[in-house]
Amino acid sequence: MRGMTSSERRVLLAAPRGYCAGVDRAVITVEKALDKYGPPVYVRKQIVHNKHVVSSLEARGAVFVDELDSVPEGATVVFSAHGVSPAVHAEAEERSLRTIDATCPLVTKVHNEARRFAGGGQDILLIGHAGHEEVEGTAGEAPDRIQLVEGPDDVDRIEVRDPSRVAWLSQTTLSVDETMQTVERLRERFPQLIDPPSDDICYATQNRQVAVKEIAHQADLMIVVGSANSSNSVRLVEVALEAGARAAYRVDNAEEIEAAWLDGVQVVGVTSGASVPDSLVEGVLDLLTEHGFPAAEEVRTAEERLIFALPPELRTSRRAASTR
Ligand code: SF4
Repeated sequence: MRGMTSSERRVLLAAPRGYCAGVDRAVITVEKALDKYGPPVYVRKQIVHNKHVVSSLEARGAVFVDELDSVPEGATVVFSAHGVSPAVHAEAEERSLRTIDATCPLVTKVHNEARRFAGGGQDILLIGHAGHEEVEGTAGEAPDRIQLVEGPDDVDRIEVRDPSRVAWLSQTTLSVDETMQTVERLRERFPQLIDPPSDDICYATQNRQVAVKEIAHQADLMIVVGSANSSNSVRLVEVALEAGARAAYRVDNAEEIEAAWLDGVQVVGVTSGASVPDSLVEGVLDLLTEHGFPAAEEVRTAEERLIFALPPELRTSRRAASTR
């Protein structure tokens, strides 16, 4: 890496950033469902938490609804990447809907863990954010066994049947460091606390946080591209600030960047959440160029090659899942 002088401006571009395997699969699922069944294809909740992705799918004939009662009987409905509870599957069946499940396999893994722990008689402490769709879906696997824990401050109020039979799980898109602080507090209270069989915070969330940390301590300003309801994007702002960025902002696109943020800034870090198309990041880099910043230097901390197969209804060949 080049030596830096006080007058040298730089743009450090995090890698990995942007689309993860679960988001890529979910977006292709809606596109292929539109091709196969024709519009309208209903989608329960935002397919992924990015308003640009949602509006471009709307333009192609996807109709986003909050609940299944807005979907006409017999229509096709896609479940979003964040997953749904068994009650939603049952409602779809009752209403004779044709369902296509775009739940990320890494969310399904957490659902399976919840069922297994609940079946084994454990009380489950689910670390996550109240109201997030993924948390609602996971909690719905065993509503009488799962309690939500939003952070260390919640730990003292937890009541369990048997303190020796308690397990924890988490939402897939949390801050790794904050989650481990909550787990430490839980373990102080429940020394026999059982861990999930493998990390619930997914590879994409973890990789994007590691890349941001690598950049943030050098950055006067960190720009995170992502929508306000995207948990992993919001966490990237927090991680950047904790890792030493002097300022960090989340924006949906370049138009939201305020010129004043760039005043006196030498080093800008740029990244994006797991539901963000790279075209939006390119828009940010173009804007920085207009403000006199040089071409971005990519700072890569991991390679990602994971691809998930499409839902079975849309699978034509293995290649179909890997052409984007
Ligand atoms: S962020 Fe992780 S859990 Fe969520 S869709 Fe992407 S890979 Fe799946």
